[in-house]
Amino acid sequence: MTHTHVAGSIHADATAAGPQWLDRPTDVNALDPALWSRCVERGEDGVVRIAGLGVDEIAASQSTPTYVVDEEDFRQRARAFRDAFSGWQVYYAGKSFLTRTVARWIKEEGLYLDVCSGGELAVALAGGMDPARIGLHGNNKSVDELALALSQGVGRIIVDSLDEIGRIEQLCSSNGWKARVMVRVTTGVEAHTHEYIATAHEDQKFGFSVTNGQAMVAMVRCHYSEHMELLGVHSHIGSQIFDTHGFEVAARRTMKLLAQFAEATGTELPELDLGGGFGIAYTSADTPATPDALASNLREIVEHEARGYNIAVPTMSIEPGRAISGPTAFALYTVGTVKVVDIEGGQQRVYVSVDGGMSDNIRPALYAAEYSAAVVSRASHAEPVLCRVVGKHCEGGDILVRDVFLPADIAPGDLVAVPAAGAYSRAMASNYNLLTKPAVVSVRDGKLATMLRRETLEDLMRLDVGE
Ligand SMILES: *Cc1c(COP(=O)(O)O)cnc(C)c1O
Repeated sequence: MTHTHVAGSIHADATAAGPQWLDRPTDVNALDPALWSRCVERGEDGVVRIAGLGVDEIAASQSTPTYVVDEEDFRQRARAFRDAFSGWQVYYAGKSFLTRTVARWIKEEGLYLDVCSGGELAVALAGGMDPARIGLHGNNKSVDELALALSQGVGRIIVDSLDEIGRIEQLCSSNGWKARVMVRVTTGVEAHTHEYIATAHEDQKFGFSVTNGQAMVAMVRCHYSEHMELLGVHSHIGSQIFDTHGFEVAARRTMKLLAQFAEATGTELPELDLGGGFGIAYTSADTPATPDALASNLREIVEHEARGYNIAVPTMSIEPGRAISGPTAFALYTVGTVKVVDIEGGQQRVYVSVDGGMSDNIRPALYAAEYSAAVVSRASHAEPVLCRVVGKHCEGGDILVRDVFLPADIAPGDLVAVPAAGAYSRAMASNYNLLTKPAVVSVRDGKLATMLRRETLEDLMRLDVGE
């Protein structure tokens, strides 16, 4: 195969240097194992394979963009959490990425599953999840969603407002149901990456405040309701968190709340959920903890706090989403154009446009999330140049990877993959510019299976009734 060197005018010296954290790679063909799922490797012929299947074959049979999930990697990550946290309940946060197949994997690997809408609940049930192992979240669950959950017998509903408590009581009293509930509390801890604030603003929509006593009011109301069984409290402090200090403060504040509740009512509540948010590596700058390290840290924290408040260690649960689904998939795109743009200081920036963008991965545009990328359809002997991988949408902010080194001979027709794209990308996909949402396939032992088929123009037209 020959490659037109469209970017032949690129001179590495003239291109921008990129951010400090991003090192110029010594080998532009190398795949950082911290970013790619375990069954991904570059073959002798330069083509990247997942579980033995070449990305060129995947692109030929599926077209692009396509999200490609490494099934073995997904299962192993789920198992790693389950085993590291044995004795605790591990709820996979379905909102990060959920299909019937994912629900089946979660079931087969012995985890529990969190959903936060009627749609997620329906998919979880259709995937065969035992309702008793499902938790329902959400700050504004509809009566229909609550009725579906209660009629199916979901294991727990995490209540988030007094209005919701009223709705649950109403539904239970009319239908003879009993709801198993946890109270979502805000502990004043907000954590993102390595930073956490222990007196964070409580100016947000989730939960009942521990500080002003609203959490206790909600707990007392649920505890004494004949229609509810109060299991305990739930705290979720943020996302993409790399150290456990924030969890430590949250555990201290929730344990104190449980101790106060025990003192006031004579009942020690049996459960505590510390939520999710465990960070993953999107780029070489990220250094996530292993599930084993997380588990031993969190166990120690909880046991320490229980001793301090002289209460039994409750049955604990956690809710990893991205830490399971994120690293297991890459997004596969085809390069359409390569453009060299003059920027400040006499430097140049290389814009690589691919056939997807913010409609299949909104995270960079939404919260300046960083990603990495590689040319995966061939190896290159060209030198690395700093590139910006952008989508095809009519928005200047339609960026997929702000800064990444790609080979200077990158050209239209090359396949580019973005690793660590399994969470909150396809799950947040839109039809902006009326692009059809990409397919999601899984690969295991060289075999490809379709998890979500690609949307077609017919799918779009079916909704566009046109009256
Ligand atoms: C989003 C969310 C999670 C999962 O967060 P990750 O960052 O994907 O681990 C868990 N629990 C609750 C309540 C959430 O809202």
